[in-house]
Amino acid sequence: MDLDTIREVVTARERADLACLDADTAILAGGTFLYSEPQEHLRRLVDLTGFEWPALVETSAGLEIAATCTLAEFAGTVPGRELGGPRPDLPGTALFAAGCRALLASHKIWRTATVGGNICLALPAGGVLAALTALDADALIWSPDGVDRRIALREFVLGPQRTALAPGEVLRSVTVPRRSLLSHTAFRKIAIAPTGRSGSVVMGRREPDGRVALTITGATMRPVVLDFPAPPDLDDLDTALAALDPRLWFDDPHGAPDWRRHVTGILAREVAEELRSGGRS
Ligand SMILES: Cc1cc2nc3c(=O)[nH]c(=O)nc-3n(C[C@H](O)[C@H](O)[C@H](O)COP(=O)(O)OP(=O)(O)OC[C@H]3O[C@@H](n4cnc5c(N)ncnc54)[C@H](O)[C@@H]3O)c2cc1C
Repeated sequence: MDLDTIREVVTARERADLACLDADTAILAGGTFLYSEPQEHLRRLVDLTGFEWPALVETSAGLEIAATCTLAEFAGTVPGRELGGPRPDLPGTALFAAGCRALLASHKIWRTATVGGNICLALPAGGVLAALTALDADALIWSPDGVDRRIALREFVLGPQRTALAPGEVLRSVTVPRRSLLSHTAFRKIAIAPTGRSGSVVMGRREPDGRVALTITGATMRPVVLDFPAPPDLDDLDTALAALDPRLWFDDPHGAPDWRRHVTGILAREVAEELRSGGRS
């Protein structure tokens, strides 16, 4: 839709171009959310795509994914962008496309929407946010004073559409550590309607040393990570789920909190079982 309150669109090409970020200004990435509903409080957009950051860079530490990497690049569906998932030598990348598919979106959205936009929008149904949290990624944040800071993605989202970004801060990239890329994973999703928004998504990661993390999204106000020293048995899992704050379960037309809690338990057991027997490779 047209955003008829916007008076200026700035294409940022260097960091100094971000100095104009104020309460009337929004960062524009793919624009699939920004252009989907009125933004009457906004007067200016700052387009990040002018930075032309490389979408995916493999380093000795892991895989750095630019905030402007599109979902299609992330999922590995763009010819020539062979770093996107899935990669047989890096089994953790199996979650990249799974996370994109958890998002209710057409291929047109996949080609436009970005990894950073999905993370910063911080919806419970944020499939890319979920996959990268499940892979224990951390976020590189550019602060307005020119200082960089890093934060674990599991701490980045505070609640629906609320993040740890301070005013004027920009998500530059996320990095998936190599041990997560080498992990085996498992994925389960449920929605009330076959093509509906996710009611619950559970993603699991089993690291080479046997440690396991289960990440719950869709069902909860923000991603919730449960850590275990080894694949949990049913008792361990039920204990961990029962200890969650009951106010975390999300309530919207895509599922009531008690239904979400119940189906999450079932999905989590299936994920734990799959990880016990190896997980995806
Ligand atoms: C029909 C439809 C269905 C959708 N279904 C889903 C769904 O199931 N799950 C879901 O999560 N989303 C959904 N969305 C919302 C949206 O399309 C996705 O979240 C998408 O990934 C957003 O990415 P984008 O690059 O288009 O973000 P934009 O629209 O450009 O930006 C989204 C928000 O993030 C901010 N932002 C973007 N990049 C940065 C950055 N690097 N640093 C700081 N702030 C930044 C923007 O200012 C804005 O507030 C849906 C949208 C539509 C229209």
